[in-house]
Amino acid sequence: MNPLHDLTLEKRSHSQRPQGAAKVAFGSVFADHMFTLDYSDGRWHSPRIRPYGPIALDPACATLHYGQTVFEGLKAFAGVDGRVRLFRPDANAKRLADSCRRMCIPPVDPELFVAAVRALVGVDRAWVPHEPGHSLYIRPVLFATESHLEVRPSQTFQLVVFTAPVGAYLDVSAVALKVQTEFCRAAPGGVGAAKTAGNYAASLLPTAVSQAEGYHQTLWLDGASRRYVEEAGYMNVFFLIDDTVITPPLGGTILPGVTRDCALTLLRQRGQQVEERPITIDEVFAASETGRLREVFGTGTAAVVSAVGKIAWEGRELVVNHGQPGPLTTALGEEITAIQRGRLADAWGWTVVVDDTALPAASDPAVPVAP
Ligand SMILES: *Cc1c(COP(=O)(O)O)cnc(C)c1O
Repeated sequence: MNPLHDLTLEKRSHSQRPQGAAKVAFGSVFADHMFTLDYSDGRWHSPRIRPYGPIALDPACATLHYGQTVFEGLKAFAGVDGRVRLFRPDANAKRLADSCRRMCIPPVDPELFVAAVRALVGVDRAWVPHEPGHSLYIRPVLFATESHLEVRPSQTFQLVVFTAPVGAYLDVSAVALKVQTEFCRAAPGGVGAAKTAGNYAASLLPTAVSQAEGYHQTLWLDGASRRYVEEAGYMNVFFLIDDTVITPPLGGTILPGVTRDCALTLLRQRGQQVEERPITIDEVFAASETGRLREVFGTGTAAVVSAVGKIAWEGRELVVNHGQPGPLTTALGEEITAIQRGRLADAWGWTVVVDDTALPAASDPAVPVAP
């Protein structure tokens, strides 16, 4: 059965889409519509697409106090063939469900999630930017809505999905990272693998300290020993040492990035030696000192593949590849982008074309899907 058979569609009468290509900050302008889904009486129900806008919250709403909430981030791309493609929405659907389980939130059926994203992007497809490096960023957020002050799982939730046309995430060719040994992002047994609000609130102070010291982001070390590298800001991190790409293994403290998985798949397919294993910050500095650290990059939906040009730790600083993106970093970024844009064959079934059929029978069949 169509998971969205009972979708209600309420379209805006006039699009708010700005004319002309004004440069806006990442994620500060939102497309016309949002998708909402409610959870109560033990089930998810009432899928709706309606005009983007504020949602009312009770001051006692559990999310505001105890942070029972998870989110996702994925993108839709305008292809070279004019078609709009989602990139790996099934992977985001699965991760959303995993995050939900960690946070005691009833997971949303992955099929329903993907259908909802397709339908929403179908309605707002005119918002998908065509310029190189631009895309429609999709932000699903799922939160507790019950009003009570007891610390216990909520019995009601809402999923909201909305979108924002975005350009390049970072304006620099390579990012500079600072290790903050005083802080950590996640600890064994904690919620580091869940895309949940508290992880980001907790990262703000260390990130602000790194930025005040002249770096773009924090390079996170593990919470238990402060020896092992875990992530680069809000990206998974990779090191090319000699001829081997090394990335820290998943295992509860690292966010299982979809782009990380793409990178591993594409690197292995090009015959690149890849290791998912713990790597200490000592090893990174030692490799740099002996000239064996060739490239460092981060991966994430927002920035795709981002070169790391500098790392500072305990009064020491290393520079990677003269502070410029290396050839493997550049090639990997271009390969992922080419698949997303439909310029390169999608051998892995990562892309999902959004067409008019993505929108199931609407409550108002007279309303056409935007061209
Ligand atoms: C979202 C996120 C990533 C990247 O995940 P993608 O699925 O590749 O976008 C990496 N680290 C953190 C902390 C994140 O929140």
